Amino acid sequence: MTKVFSASGDRIMIIAGTRPELIKVAPVACQLGRYDEVRVTIVSTAQQADLLPAFLGLLDTEVDYHLGVMSAGQSLNALLSKTIAALDLVIAEVQPNLIVVQGDTTSALAGALAGRMRAIPVAHIEAGLRTGDPANPFPEETNRRLISHVASLHCAPTRRNRAELVREGIAPQDIIVTGNPVVSSLQNAIQKSQSSPDLDVLLENLKGLKPVVLTTHRRESFGTTLDRNLRTLRAFIMERPDTALVVPVHPNPMVKETVQRILSDSERVSLIEPLDYPSFVRLLQAAWLIVSDSGGVQEEVASLGKPLLVLRSVTERPEAIDAGVAKLAGEGPGQLEELLGDCDALNKWIASIKPIANPFGDAQSSARIAQAFVDFLTGQVQQTRAVQ
Ligand code: UDP
Repeated sequence: MTKVFSASGDRIMIIAGTRPELIKVAPVACQLGRYDEVRVTIVSTAQQADLLPAFLGLLDTEVDYHLGVMSAGQSLNALLSKTIAALDLVIAEVQPNLIVVQGDTTSALAGALAGRMRAIPVAHIEAGLRTGDPANPFPEETNRRLISHVASLHCAPTRRNRAELVREGIAPQDIIVTGNPVVSSLQNAIQKSQSSPDLDVLLENLKGLKPVVLTTHRRESFGTTLDRNLRTLRAFIMERPDTALVVPVHPNPMVKETVQRILSDSERVSLIEPLDYPSFVRLLQAAWLIVSDSGGVQEEVASLGKPLLVLRSVTERPEAIDAGVAKLAGEGPGQLEELLGDCDALNKWIASIKPIANPFGDAQSSARIAQAFVDFLTGQVQQTRAVQ
């Protein structure tokens, strides 16, 4: 690619620490690699140290800094302060001109604050998602609100996200509707069409059955809600001998313990290790129904044409519901039972779902975001020259 701008400042630092962040920043990092003048530094906070290795392969490049910020049982405040302190040292060394954070994790908030406190502009991917309820999801709703008021450049996936930001007083000229890079990653995974040998065996064993795929990990559902959801799904699978449940179990000890306690030894239930991204996409493609509290999965199902029951009381991604591919299943206790219990309505809805244009973005989302960063840096250089 030709030289886009000649600036002394072209160092972009991307911060990621969890599975969804890596899935989403990987195609952006790859696009930035096409600009000769841009040097990308990737910092992994390893907030999800046990999940991350399977996702590092999505990057075309190596991670430059691995931070060890996790320790058992630490509070969110301890994690946040430790991450800011660790990032500050890296920022001082790399001296980036732009810091990029994605989404709503503690790593993203720490990155945004660490950048701001060093007077370095921050770009936020996946800006403007809101539920309006600080308790749902917790602490993510608070994290993303705070990041919005620290960032200088906001890459909003949808027009709705843009409108939310404008309503909160973010300057419209600082917001670009880019789409969500998860759609770029998903397209790459679909094209690669890879899956692990273990998954191939499992899918072979499920032939003739309707696979229900479950992922659950949200902290706000731990306890009664998670227990109830799992018991409801177990009962559904027992009542319908034509179905099977597949659960890639999240490594969070709370999730693991509850899933094992309620679902292990159940007939037609497979509890498996978390899958790498292409394998997980392959599993979703094979699903008859998906049940999940994940944010990313809500963004993926439209492209895959798969029905999703969202295990949340409220969602910051209503676009999937508006598109008809997802239904909220946790607005009140008993709603999941109700949705699964009405077999006619459920079967009819599932049969009606087909792949549609993804409301969260397209394959070009990551290229738009990379271009937005380059344009931002070019603008910064021009501003500096104008002042001189
Ligand atoms: N995912 C994956 N392997 C799995 C489960 C999920 O690759 O075993 C992907 C999924 O497709 C989505 C992302 O991980 O893109 C979602 O991560 P998670 O649910 O942990 O976080 P959230 O999206 O809720 O922030």
